[in-house]
Amino acid sequence: MLQPSSPPALITLRGVSKVYPGPAGGFTALSDVSLDVAEGGFVAVVGPSGCGKSTLLSLISGVDRPTRGEVMVGGTAVHALPERRLSEWRGRTVGIVFQFFQLLPTLTSAENVMLPMDFCGTWPVRERRGRAEALLERLGVADQADKLPSALSGGQQQRVAIARALANAPAVLLADEPTGNLDSRTSAAILELFASLSAEGQTVVMVTHEAAARTHASRTLEMADGRVVGDEAGVEVSEAVRG
Ligand code: ADP
Repeated sequence: MLQPSSPPALITLRGVSKVYPGPAGGFTALSDVSLDVAEGGFVAVVGPSGCGKSTLLSLISGVDRPTRGEVMVGGTAVHALPERRLSEWRGRTVGIVFQFFQLLPTLTSAENVMLPMDFCGTWPVRERRGRAEALLERLGVADQADKLPSALSGGQQQRVAIARALANAPAVLLADEPTGNLDSRTSAAILELFASLSAEGQTVVMVTHEAAARTHASRTLEMADGRVVGDEAGVEVSEAVRG
């Protein structure tokens, strides 16, 4: 039997369509998308509003189910997971970063980062605080550990939110417009952070409007009308190949 020449992808979509029900017979948000994302990749998903970027993320995270097709993440058939297993699977496998950070306002940074560990019961209770502090350190905000989100800048809040998304060592980090609420300098720093996490082996899939994302991501997928219409290696990568 022939062996595949490259390792299996961490994320695989096969023939994925998503039709939202509606009065005129439904709206097709994703149309027959097939895709492989390698482990450790940093994929930017770009395209105009309404082209299906967030829908793609919600199918990878199991927040929503495809109308047709298969979504595999780390060998799990996400599209077929029973509802009762989905939230635990998601809590352990997927970290999600949002445009507006969505930190709990009454908890400190460290407590926000501990929350996913508490929910999923990952790591012994006595190790959770230390792990949260180590993640905040990695994200460059160790000195903000005991502050409430309201005392932090937008960039600091997003760093805490990324630390929280990494709390359970997820196979996949998903980000939906993570720089959409940040100034351009802070945005660049956050994109660099994702690139460095990816260089350490973290798989990252990021939806963005940010043109600069192409220079940080290892791969850019361009979407239009529910389809993937472009698939390019990152600028730095292709320059390195040319040079
Ligand atoms: P993007 O993230 O690229 O802006 P989305 O994935 O959010 O696009 O949406 C794709 C299309 O699907 C849009 O036209 C949007 O209005 C539609 N859509 C998204 N979610 C729903 C829903 N729950 N019900 C009906 N239509 C939806």
